[in-house]
Amino acid sequence: MIHEPIVAARACPLCGAGADQAEPFLSDTRDESRVSASSFASRKVPEYMSHAMVRCRACDLAYVDRPPSVASLAASYHEADYDSAEEAEDAADAYARALGPVLQQLKGRGAALEIGTGTAAFLERLQNAGFTSLVGVEPSTAAIAAAPTHRKAWIREGIFEEGDFAPDSFDLICCFMTLEHVQDPGALVASAYRLLRPGGVFVGVTHDRRGLLNRLLGRRSPIVDIEHMQLFSAKSARRLLQINGYGDVGGASFYNSYRPSYWLRLVPLPAGLKAGLTRMVRGSWLDRRRLSVNVGNFMSWGFKTS
Ligand SMILES: [Zn+2]
Repeated sequence: MIHEPIVAARACPLCGAGADQAEPFLSDTRDESRVSASSFASRKVPEYMSHAMVRCRACDLAYVDRPPSVASLAASYHEADYDSAEEAEDAADAYARALGPVLQQLKGRGAALEIGTGTAAFLERLQNAGFTSLVGVEPSTAAIAAAPTHRKAWIREGIFEEGDFAPDSFDLICCFMTLEHVQDPGALVASAYRLLRPGGVFVGVTHDRRGLLNRLLGRRSPIVDIEHMQLFSAKSARRLLQINGYGDVGGASFYNSYRPSYWLRLVPLPAGLKAGLTRMVRGSWLDRRRLSVNVGNFMSWGFKTS
């Protein structure tokens, strides 16, 4: 699919600063001949293609200043491939471990909403943690098809729309590895705020572009991705919540645990070598283990304190 960029450069989608605060961050390295349904899949083999991005000097967000339209993004995710249902379980376990201390501060465990739920693996962890009402929003038909049958009833197909839910109705709203993908992350967290009950919490997981590994890899980091409309740092991820009214805002980096054959997918190696190594490792004794790595993923949270 060819994305027609909008013509005028937008203001910073986090703080609203104009083009005078923007400095070049990434050049446009898209190659339309290499864009496919797998380009918009979760946990895909990195392609190292990106839209042109600028960095906001005021808030530290890096963002695409001429993004595709919301409708075009929705279509891309609707049609995206999905091949990582097993890794979704490992990711959900890592998120659940990181979320533990935040849940201890939460009074109610009634209703939870996950924006970008994939196969709803994380909703199942929330059910185990005592949440009684679960709903997830997911645009990818293929991801929903890969969900176990008992989770499908929790999933609504489509992109997140505030109007689909009642105000003041959720104790917890999660959005993991999705805030980079939406055209307007500020609008998303502001909508979530209105949907939370007083005392409820929003929790996001983003990449930290200033994390050690991402800085070392530079343009060869998997975060350099055509899917990403913005890239946060730890500072700008917290700022997103503060600026949209949240209180008691916090954040922490955490470790992800995956099979070695999955980590191999992310390593910048020539494609042939990577495929050969993956074939050797997959299904071997080594691949039954889980390897924990801090790849610069960052959990941020904020409460509806008023
Ligand atoms: Zn900004």
